[in-house]
Amino acid sequence: MNYSDLKEKLRSLSKDDFLSKADLHIHSKYSDGALYPEEIVKITKEKNYKLISITDHNTVSGYLKTNVLRNDFVIPGIEFDCWHKGVLVHILGYGIDIHNDHIKTLCVRNKNCVKSFGLRFMFTTLSAKEAIKTIKEAGGVAVLAHPACYWAVSLETLFRELKEIGLDGVECYYLYIGFLKNLLKFHSEKLVIDLAEKYNFIKTGGSDNHSTTFDFEKYTF
Ligand SMILES: [Zn+2]
Ligand SMILES: [Zn+2]
Repeated sequence: MNYSDLKEKLRSLSKDDFLSKADLHIHSKYSDGALYPEEIVKITKEKNYKLISITDHNTVSGYLKTNVLRNDFVIPGIEFDCWHKGVLVHILGYGIDIHNDHIKTLCVRNKNCVKSFGLRFMFTTLSAKEAIKTIKEAGGVAVLAHPACYWAVSLETLFRELKEIGLDGVECYYLYIGFLKNLLKFHSEKLVIDLAEKYNFIKTGGSDNHSTTFDFEKYTF
């Protein structure tokens, strides 16, 4: 699927889709998740998901070392740790070519940011501009993960600046209950959605699941 087709597909997904059928933010054992990619595919298929993405931290090894992309409901993904003007941000890349040299280079630069849960920020020197540029060079769509979690005085300024450097979307439907996510939630979901609409971002969603269970029924976004 090319860049514009993927953008259209992502734009076509609604909040309801992200409540039950689509999960575009899942971690596998290739970063700090609990399941192998094949297990994630098996479970989500059993639960009748229509679209998923495994977005390991700073690595595409989960795709390179397995055959999960043969399932047409898996979109290749990644989550980069990077900085934007002193704010640590996570940028998701969807639909990237996992063999792209620019992606490989960033994964090597951030190779110490694959596991080390909670401390990864200490090891990244990547900028959001580089991450977004690279995702797009690899044919992908760049999305800001869990936007309510960033220590930015003005979320609007952050959104505007990231838009200017090519960000395509923001993760609007997200559970702020995981490790530190509830403590580090500085902005409301409503503000995130309002600003996403104001700046015409694609609105995506995901569980950020690192565990062995997928209980979307409980999610309330
Ligand atoms: Zn993240
Ligand atoms: Zn994540």
